[in-house]
Amino acid sequence: MKVTVLGFYGGYPTKGIGTSAYLIESNGFHLLLDVGSNSLLTLERYVDPIHLDAVLLSHYHHDHIADLGVLQFTRLLKRDAKGNKPHLLPIYCHNEDIDNFKQMSFENVTLGIAYNEESELTIGPFKIEHMKTLHPVPCYAFKITEEKSNKTIVSTSDSGYKEAFIAFAKDADLLIADSNFYEGMENHTVHMTAKECGRIANKAKVKRLILTHLPQTGELNQLVEQAKNEAPSIPIELAQKEMTITI
Ligand code: ZN
Repeated sequence: MKVTVLGFYGGYPTKGIGTSAYLIESNGFHLLLDVGSNSLLTLERYVDPIHLDAVLLSHYHHDHIADLGVLQFTRLLKRDAKGNKPHLLPIYCHNEDIDNFKQMSFENVTLGIAYNEESELTIGPFKIEHMKTLHPVPCYAFKITEEKSNKTIVSTSDSGYKEAFIAFAKDADLLIADSNFYEGMENHTVHMTAKECGRIANKAKVKRLILTHLPQTGELNQLVEQAKNEAPSIPIELAQKEMTITI
């Protein structure tokens, strides 16, 4: 399977780079994980949004859903080369915020499908498991397993540090972790530090760590160093726009 980072900033876009959105592909199936600001324009470089197969949302903060409305409008208005309407797009999301959940179903364009911590979803070629994170609003981390290869991607989504991430991310082929803060801000209730991400990666023995949900300020390479101090044997990189990782 293949992951492409469409945007990686936390909170707001800047300098031509958007907020959280990742395209996950396997066998021609296109799953969009979060729909941050600027993600639709970047997505279009890889797949026409009318050919997207499913969307998976971690939570309803703006920096994760900013382009959702225009994705719905694209699929309402645009037709393929033969003039056909796109299929009803499933948006997998939680329903603990009922007002936002209702917005996920729009005409015959998109359909909100609720998951919860107990549910185990299959979305196309992927099995999805969930874990509730530490965040001011309900938010879920995901373990995405490509069923044919058994390879796994774990995304922490937005979260403060939770020891439970170590078991959840155990032996993952790729960990994509919220590293919004520099060292010194540990045990925050909204986001993690790079040091905490490194600790999870090391204890879970993941094969690779990508630091994401990055801050707009400071020297980002310090985040890599701070994570490496905790996980010296694990390859660690900053998320970059249109970085593609094949697992
Ligand atoms: Zn958030």
